[in-house]
Amino acid sequence: MNSIEQTDLLFPHITTLPEDYEALFPSRSLPTGTKVTRLGPSPTGFIHLGNLYVAFVNERLAHQSGGLFYLRIEDTDQKREVEGAVDAIISSLNYFGVVFDEGATVDGEIGNYGPYYQSRRAHIYQCYVKELIRRGLAYPCFCTGEELEAIREEQEANKENPGYYGSWAKCRDLSSEEVQKRIKAGMPFVIRLRSQGDLKRTFQIHDGIRGLLTMPENNQDVILLKQNGIPTYHFAHVVDDHLMGTTHVVRGEEWLSSLPIHVALFETMGWPLPIYCHTTVLMKMEGETKRKLSKRKDPELSLDYYQSQGYHPIAVREYLMTILNSNYEEWRAANPESSIGDFPFSTDKMSSSGTLFDLDKLNDISKEVLARLEDEELYQFLLEWAKSYRKDLVSLFLEQKETMLHILSMDRHGEKPRKDLIYCSQIFEFISYFFDDYYKIQDDYPTEVDYNDLKPILKGYLSTYNPIDDRTQWFTKIRELSTQLGYAEKPKDYKKSPDLYKGHVGHVSTVIRIALMGRASSPDLWEIQQIMGELKTRDRITKAIGLL
Ligand code: GLU
Repeated sequence: MNSIEQTDLLFPHITTLPEDYEALFPSRSLPTGTKVTRLGPSPTGFIHLGNLYVAFVNERLAHQSGGLFYLRIEDTDQKREVEGAVDAIISSLNYFGVVFDEGATVDGEIGNYGPYYQSRRAHIYQCYVKELIRRGLAYPCFCTGEELEAIREEQEANKENPGYYGSWAKCRDLSSEEVQKRIKAGMPFVIRLRSQGDLKRTFQIHDGIRGLLTMPENNQDVILLKQNGIPTYHFAHVVDDHLMGTTHVVRGEEWLSSLPIHVALFETMGWPLPIYCHTTVLMKMEGETKRKLSKRKDPELSLDYYQSQGYHPIAVREYLMTILNSNYEEWRAANPESSIGDFPFSTDKMSSSGTLFDLDKLNDISKEVLARLEDEELYQFLLEWAKSYRKDLVSLFLEQKETMLHILSMDRHGEKPRKDLIYCSQIFEFISYFFDDYYKIQDDYPTEVDYNDLKPILKGYLSTYNPIDDRTQWFTKIRELSTQLGYAEKPKDYKKSPDLYKGHVGHVSTVIRIALMGRASSPDLWEIQQIMGELKTRDRITKAIGLL
């Protein structure tokens, strides 16, 4: 049996030829220097910070060069696939401002280089595999799991490199007759590359982030097609990146060790290599040591974490850009008003050793970003977050829009705007005391105030409280109340002669603050009362007295 007969026996249903696909997907006619990049997530249901990090690099490289960025769904591992995962990937990336020009979308596929789901491209991979077998560069392998295990054990016993290669590759040189016999007997098979590489030889490759790399050649007869006719990642991405015209493959560091396989595959196919750019893993500090962010230990690895907590996408983008490019912060300081898209992003400024992820730093950036938002924008952002993650709050937010705008505007517009709002769940927690259903006394009254003074303070406050008092009149009354009860009217008087007083006016105000809001720190007390109105103010003080 000749190799053409053999390929027809293996793939009787494949009648197209590689040149048909080359004609169907001609090279993209784009000006030189234009980059075509892609994101190739697997729909496993877990979309993480690493995906977003890689997405930003891809997106910037493409759009900054006037090129194109597309989404390809790498769903060749159906066992790991989770329903709804593709929509979740797309909407999650959209939330963070990652927009694709082409590929999979929630409304189907867009573009002339599809299908963009690997599971829909089996016929294409099989056509190219058929061609490789015809050329003697790939072959069917019938080894069972047990046989492979036996090979592995023998290699281990002999201290040889593990894998399917050289003389260990039992099916590499099966006669045509034997192959034919096995196929006819219905034996399951995979297709393997007939590797031409030698581990003792090295090759050099320029990584877009890491610079020049020297690596040993691949000598493994890696699997190209699995028993179900679906390709491995190795083969699928090579065929796809070729046919889809990818110029730069930006992906995680975990793929670096298989780069020799990918280079060998591109060479075997006779296609030019894209520029590979391997990003670094995201690390975090644990005590004194750096470690990889882990799915199990670190909820902040999941993108869902940022959405459910209600981080503003601009804050996450800003932060990621600071860890992506070492000169970003300097640029941002010099260009506070510019759009992030104006930053000249460059892979040269990317770290090639672990990137440190720091949630506190993200929080600091978030405070700055939220401080710049208009009240209405912040309100709308909270409302959208509630619609997805706190449905119980939506009607409250809608009914209390005016109050919320007022609360959100407090202390945010002066010369020194407040910068303590970080993300939606924290903001809600911060302002929740305004709403009766969420008000509860959660902080302890100050220890400087004797328990027996609490009621007199609150009762005294209630009896002199007048909603039309301006800030000065209001505070004068608190001072008077303080002196009447033995507290210094000024903190400095108390500091000077602590023996003369029980405490000072600040302690008395804190008692009032806790009664009104349930907590010891909050924005301006007088202003909060103005928003709450007379009824609510009286009601809260009365309730707090009742609890004593
Ligand atoms: N499907 C691969 C992953 O999810 C993508 C790697 C690549 O971008 O080439 O890790």
